[in-house]
Amino acid sequence: MIRKVDMYQCVCDGCGKAHVDEFNGYVAWTDETGARTSASEDEWTQIDGKDYCPDCYEFDEKKDEYKPKSEDKQ
Ligand SMILES: [Zn+2]
Repeated sequence: MIRKVDMYQCVCDGCGKAHVDEFNGYVAWTDETGARTSASEDEWTQIDGKDYCPDCYEFDEKKDEYKPKSEDKQ
């Protein structure tokens, strides 16, 4: 039989893109920790409790820390 299960994936708070582990072919994980760990291995990061893909954050040389790119546009 087939049944539906709840899975987790990390979604970018900047662009809304979901993290996909292209190396292993995974699109979802069985727990939040697994989803976040896999995303961080693909250079995703957390800033102020939000998750960002590599396209949506950058290094702020003035503050010496990473920041979401969207802050500049607003
Ligand atoms: Zn993004």
